Amino acid sequence: MTPDLIPADRTLIDSCQTQVLGGRAIRPEDARRLLATEGTDDILYLASAANRIREHFMGDIADLCSLINAKSGACSEDCAFCSQSSSYKTDAAVYPLLPPAQIVAAARKAEAAGAHNFCIVCSGDAPRADEMPRILEAVRRITEETGLNVTCSLGALTDDQVRELKAAGMKRYNHNIETARSHFDRIVTTHTFDDRVGTIRRVQRQGVEACCGGIIGMGESSDQRLEFAFQLREIGTDCFTLNILNPRPGTPLGSVEPLPPLELVKTIAVFRFIIPDKILKLSGGREANLRDLQALAMLAGANGLIVGGYLTTGGQGAEKDLRMLLDVGLDPSRRYRKAAVTAGTA
Ligand code: SF4
Repeated sequence: MTPDLIPADRTLIDSCQTQVLGGRAIRPEDARRLLATEGTDDILYLASAANRIREHFMGDIADLCSLINAKSGACSEDCAFCSQSSSYKTDAAVYPLLPPAQIVAAARKAEAAGAHNFCIVCSGDAPRADEMPRILEAVRRITEETGLNVTCSLGALTDDQVRELKAAGMKRYNHNIETARSHFDRIVTTHTFDDRVGTIRRVQRQGVEACCGGIIGMGESSDQRLEFAFQLREIGTDCFTLNILNPRPGTPLGSVEPLPPLELVKTIAVFRFIIPDKILKLSGGREANLRDLQALAMLAGANGLIVGGYLTTGGQGAEKDLRMLLDVGLDPSRRYRKAAVTAGTA
């Protein structure tokens, strides 16, 4: 912590909460003090204030995604956290794009397990022209044959590809900025922060919901964690996905020290203060990093989960996740609908 930084007390937490509930953004200097909150009691107080903000803006909905790693490994990019980059020697699986029937079968399974959204994820900087017809077929079939919203995460897209995916039924596109702009080139050198924002803007321009986020715990400072949160707010997507680094052996971040679980709870709470009215989804690394504090993280303002495992690591199982959501007062049977939330009827 910076020597002159005064940790937030309950008066500041209360006044920031009132400000956010009144529709006003908190100031970066107050966010810094919130993130510096000390002592378990005050951190719980901060978490509870964030939970109240989530309730006020979003009600008890819980947005649930499940994903398939539809094409794994052999990626030309050098994202330092990722075991699928061909720059590193890891044990991640390497396989080409799965056939549409296999992707559709996984979607059916995800729907039966309680997911609302199904995300088709492919490794690589962008989908290849010869892969697009099979991806489009999978999107079309899942849209027609299930009640799931289809999300894709395929890397950078052209305008035409966004149009084609939207026409096939894709409702949301995931593209993460990964980390704060000021930390980005320590994590990725093969493309830029602006490249990533450009893809999100392209998707938004065509009226597709965007999902954007990144990973915390990649050696960034606490100020950079806040910078990341404010940049996500500025990008203004419907869904923000927060991963917590689960270091993968063989990657440059393979031996990064994990952040303590209470620090993560505090961070999630402050993200909710900064982004009060959107989905805040806990994603990869939550089980490994939060351990027994996962439910507390949900009570600190989060309201979404990726269920059923991640790209290269497993999860705790959808049944346990749904139980946890019910236990903290979220309703996994009510999916996010933008119009309902905007109208205050979530
Ligand atoms: S995060 Fe995506 S783009 Fe980066 S190395 Fe992994 S698969 Fe490639």
